[in-house]
Amino acid sequence: MRIDSNKLSEYLKKITLGKCPLCDHEQWEVSDYVFALIEYPEETKCTPVISITCENCGYIHFVNVLNAKLATVEMLENPDWNKADD
Ligand SMILES: [Zn+2]
Repeated sequence: MRIDSNKLSEYLKKITLGKCPLCDHEQWEVSDYVFALIEYPEETKCTPVISITCENCGYIHFVNVLNAKLATVEMLENPDWNKADD
């Protein structure tokens, strides 16, 4: 699933990425794909995230898409939510 580009743009205006904590560079690559962080080993809990990666060293921020209001549980459970239903 991908995050709506308008929602992602609005979110990115509200946050400050600043410098990478590992290498001090300030160039970040934001992914609009939602990934799942899954509990090990039972896989009973799942945190949906997008990644923001330092273009220089690869350090990754994870943002919980539910807390950031980039998606709802309903959207995650039905990845076709934004497609026309006819
Ligand atoms: Zn870095």
